[in-house]
This record gives sequence, C-alpha cells and structure tokens, in this order.
Amino acid sequence: MKRAPVAALRVAAFAAALAAASASFAAPTLVTVTPPNGARFLEGQKFDVRVEGKGTGPFSAALTLDGAPLTFTSGGQNTLATDGISSAGWGGFNVRGFSSTAPGRHTLRATFTDATGTATAQSSFEIVDVGGRGLVKNVIILLGDGMGVAHRTAARIVKFGVTAGQPDGFLAMDRFPGTGLVTTHSLNSIVTDSAPGMACYVSGSHNKNGQEGVYPANVTNVFYYPRVEYLSEYLHRLRGTSLGIVSTADLEDATPAANAVHTGNRGAGQGIVDQYLDESGNTGLRVLLGGGRRWFLPQKDANGQAIFGSSRGTAANDYGALPDDLRAAWGVPAGLVDPNRDLIGDFQKKGFYYVRDWEKLQGTLAGPAPSKLLGLFGYGNMNVAADKIAKRRGGSGPFVVDDYHAPDQPMLDEMTEAALRVLSRDRDGFVLMVEGAHIDKQSHLMDAERVIGETIEFDNAVAVVRRFAETREDTLVLVLADHECSGFSLIGALVGGVQNLEGLASDAGVLDPGTAPARQKVVGTYDNAAFPRYHLEGDGYPKSFDIDGKVLVGYGASGDRNETWLGKEKPVIDSLLSSDIKAELAGNGYADAPWKRTEDAEGFFLRGQAVGRDQAVHTAADIPVSAYSRSDAWRAFVGVQTNTDIFFKIGKLVLGPGRRYDASIERWSESRLAPPGR
Ligand SMILES: [Zn+2]
Repeated sequence: MKRAPVAALRVAAFAAALAAASASFAAPTLVTVTPPNGARFLEGQKFDVRVEGKGTGPFSAALTLDGAPLTFTSGGQNTLATDGISSAGWGGFNVRGFSSTAPGRHTLRATFTDATGTATAQSSFEIVDVGGRGLVKNVIILLGDGMGVAHRTAARIVKFGVTAGQPDGFLAMDRFPGTGLVTTHSLNSIVTDSAPGMACYVSGSHNKNGQEGVYPANVTNVFYYPRVEYLSEYLHRLRGTSLGIVSTADLEDATPAANAVHTGNRGAGQGIVDQYLDESGNTGLRVLLGGGRRWFLPQKDANGQAIFGSSRGTAANDYGALPDDLRAAWGVPAGLVDPNRDLIGDFQKKGFYYVRDWEKLQGTLAGPAPSKLLGLFGYGNMNVAADKIAKRRGGSGPFVVDDYHAPDQPMLDEMTEAALRVLSRDRDGFVLMVEGAHIDKQSHLMDAERVIGETIEFDNAVAVVRRFAETREDTLVLVLADHECSGFSLIGALVGGVQNLEGLASDAGVLDPGTAPARQKVVGTYDNAAFPRYHLEGDGYPKSFDIDGKVLVGYGASGDRNETWLGKEKPVIDSLLSSDIKAELAGNGYADAPWKRTEDAEGFFLRGQAVGRDQAVHTAADIPVSAYSRSDAWRAFVGVQTNTDIFFKIGKLVLGPGRRYDASIERWSESRLAPPGR
C-alpha cells in the first residue's frame, strides 16, 4: 500500500471531524457482526446473529455464512433508531436462534448500508463437536462467588488448624481428585463481574461485564439483546434435563440469573425474576432456592397499599412485548410489565411447592420430595452463616436475622440437600448450580470473619454434593469461582491477644504515614503468626472468630476502612434489600459502608489501595477449580484452562463420545494453550 502524504491525511481528518460535527456520515460506522469474533459453540447450540451499525437511515444489510446467504429474521427494529428506516442512529438486523452442526471454523461476512454508503464487517466462530451419549448425566457446579485460593486456605485453617506445618484436616473441596486453574476474564475486561463470570461456564461464550447470556448490542430494551443458549436450555432441549438454582444471594443477582436469564443489564430487577418462571419451559427450572423475596411480592395489595419488603414497581426494571422473531426463535412468551404480579402465586400455579423458612424446608426433607420447589428465605440477600448460626445457638438477642426480617433461614448445605432430593427424581438428569454468595459480598465489605464463615458454609454444601455423587457413576461435580474478590490475603496472625487489642488506642484519625498505628503493631508475621487454633462448636462453626492468635486478613484490592482486627457485631447493610428494610436497618445502627461502621472507630484508617471508596473490588487473578466424579470425568479439569473451556468440557462429557472417559478432552484443552496459528 502506498503511503498517503501527511497533508492529505490532515485534510481527511479535518473532513471527518466536520462530518461528525454535522452528524452526517460518509458511510455507516461501528459496523459489527455478532457473535464476537472467536466465539465457540457446541454442535447445535443456539445463538443470535446480528449485524449492526450506526449511520443515517434507511438501513439495509446482507449477510453470508461461509459464502452462502443467510436470511434475517428481523431487520431494523429494536435498535436505538426508532424504526431503523429513516432516522440517524443505530440500525440492526438479526438472525435469531441460529445453530450449526458442522464442526470447525465458520465465517460471517456482512455489508451494512445507510443513506450515505456501505461498510463491511466479519466475524468467525467455531462449532465444537460432541458425540452422542456421554459419561455424565448430572452436572453440579458449586460456585464460591469471589473465592480465590486464600479464601479456601482461611476456611481450612479456621476449621482444622495446622500442627508443625501440617494441616490437621482438609475441606471437602480440598479432597476432590482433580484441581486446576481457570482464567476469569470477560469479553471486555481482564476483571470480570459476576454476570459474565458465571455465564461463561454455562454458555461457552464471554459476555460483557454487567450482561448475562447475551452479546453486546444497541437495542432499546435490555431483554432484546442477542442471546446465547445456556447449558440448562441446551440440555433441556436435547435431553429433557432439569435445572436447579440454589444461592445465598438475592435470586435476582447476577450469579443465579446467569444460569437461566438473558439480559443486557444484570440489575434488571423484576424482569429477571419474571423470566425465571416465564422461560422455565426452556430451562427446565424445577428448583429455585435463595433470597430475593422482594421481587416476588406485588408492589401493592388489593387496597392499593404498598406491600412491606417489595421492590417491584419500576417499569424500567421489567420487560414486555419481546420482539416477535425472538419469541418465535426461542419459544418464549411476550412478557408483561406487571408491578403487581403475584409471582409466588404464579410459581405455585405452575406446580412449585413454596417454602419461606427453614422449618418449612425441613418438611421437604422428610416425606416424598415435591416435583418443583421454590424457596425464598429473605427479602434480599440471605444472611451470612455467622449471623444465621448466632440465632440458632440461642441466647438473648437482638439477632441480625431478626433485624433483616428473616429469622429462620436455612444453611446452604440444607438448601442443597433439598435441591438434590427434588432434582434426583428426574431420570433425564439435571444441572444444579449452588452459590456461596457472601464469600464475594463480604470480601467486598472487607468483613473477614463473615467471609470465612461463609466459606465454611459453602464447603458444607460441597460435602453434601460429594456424598450424593459418591453413590452414582453419572454425576460430575465442579467447585469453581467466577473471579477472586478483594485480593484477600492471609497476612499473619494476632500477637498480644484479644484483650490487649481491645485496650489499644484508636488511631482512626491518624493519617500520617510516619506514624505506625497501635493496632498495626499487633500483626504477627512469619514466625510470630505461628498456628492459630479455633474452638469449633458442635454446629461446625467457630465458637468465636476473635481468639488470641486469630488469622489476620489484608486486602490487596481494598476499599477504605477502619481496621480493628476484630469481628463486627453487625454486618454492613445489604445493598440488595428493599428500601423500607434498608431504612429500618439504618435506624437500628447498621452502617451502609465499611468505613462508616461506628464500632470500627476504634481502628486505624486504611485508604483503599485500588479504588479508595466504599468497597474492595474484584481482581483479575485465576481461580482454582476442583473436580469430582466417580468416573474419570474429573480428569478433564486438571491443568490451566480458560473459563469458557469449562463449558465445552462439560458438553463433551455429557454428550459423548461414548460411555467411557475420553482423554482427548484433555488434549483438546491443552491445544487451547498453544498460540493461535493464524
Ligand atoms: Zn462474583
């Protein structure tokens, strides 16, 4: 190519600037073909193809796959331009519900034309072959949200202790035969949030931060985005499998939703929980247990009075009238903007047995298991293990769970047991996702004791699943995390004892870097950390986290906080709660950010290294995966792999080839680590 003279380039740049200023384009810009280049799919897995660009209407487009024309199922509508015909803005053309059974690499080429000209774009994707009938029927993913290596180590030290360099016991997840590392990046960042962090394992595609089960697009409603089929939908369509979702989070939250709900905004509130039910015919949803009752309650009662604890009501959080071609291709209902929907009643009408507390859940563990189960045990996120256990141990309150209006919540292992009872009734197999949500949430809030308690609770759920999987040949169990949270690190242990610590002066106001705060001097490092020894109660949790010689935690991705090194009586107010309950908690002395905790005024101030604000953040570190199966299926997950690799390994194990373990799955994964050939 000849080089253009510098002067000519300057003229061209000037002309482009002029054109941009007058909002008239020489040709459409930002033309893209979705799925993003490099996407991979299992044979027959459905996804939406979209050609999109920005310019001045009218718009038109043409698309080929490997040179042969592809027909759009819709054109122009649902873009930011109102009709895609005549206005300046975005135009888009979809092929909804596309799939291919031809293994290998395929290329999409598009032309996009507006009133001023034509631009082209292309994108390649790969179809990954699977066989027929596989080794595995049931897939159980235990997702420790935000759980890095140090979270696991902390739980092990607290639960078992260490003697002369040797751990005195191992967590259930430690005892899985296969351990590997997994990258955690999302479509648009090295640091993922929980939506793409979960979706990659159950769709095989990288999503953009904040989005789940969809690709980026410029559309007028967050539920119109181009979709990719989830593992639950794919296996339900092919095999009739069921789906179970169990979480200590608000069920509207990213991790649970990224198994069943397609949205361009993980915060889309009532639209998300509505879609669990409205599209349960696609996902095979049979178990939904967690928090988030606020989304399931109508905004107002029959007399027009606001219902306590409800968060429904914002039309922008809902969806109605999905596009015709999306409905047809994915077989889903239109949806309705319905702030007063009685969603619990609607679940019951579809055969779900509803429970709202531990006592009722225990009922489902006795007698015959219901065929479908909905459990909503809190208004927002459920409370953490330590706060649930405090109430169970009795004594005089007040108890945190009472303040949260959820006095009788089950533990994650109890929820998991109930889920397995229901799902194992399905001879066609099931997909179950169990999330320990507060490992992440309390790491964000730099509440070390609540993080460690939650990790122990999560491991108890791992033990329940292990016992289930030990009795059958056909079940694959994966312990994963979506990302690490907070740069959680075990920096040492307390020297001088708790009583001494409590007597130390507050250095909360000392910001002089030349002054070492009194409480900073009690951090025992190296030899002085020694071997912390916690006393466990019969319930399996520490009698107290504040022991002499306790483990001390630092945060490499810290927010602002006053560090006391002591456990906190009250948690920071759960951000995922209805506004009425949040206001009540604020009135009861709960803080809404770590640095505002009044009990922490005794501590010394630490400026957030990464962000200097209310919360610690996620990090880009790899996370550990632990795999278990009675068959050799676990072997596929040893080594270093990407987060989307996990999906394809699961697919290959469930769908073949053959009933014997195929070691080529490991080689397939290794080939991914080689530099790209082209
Ligand atoms: Zn997460």
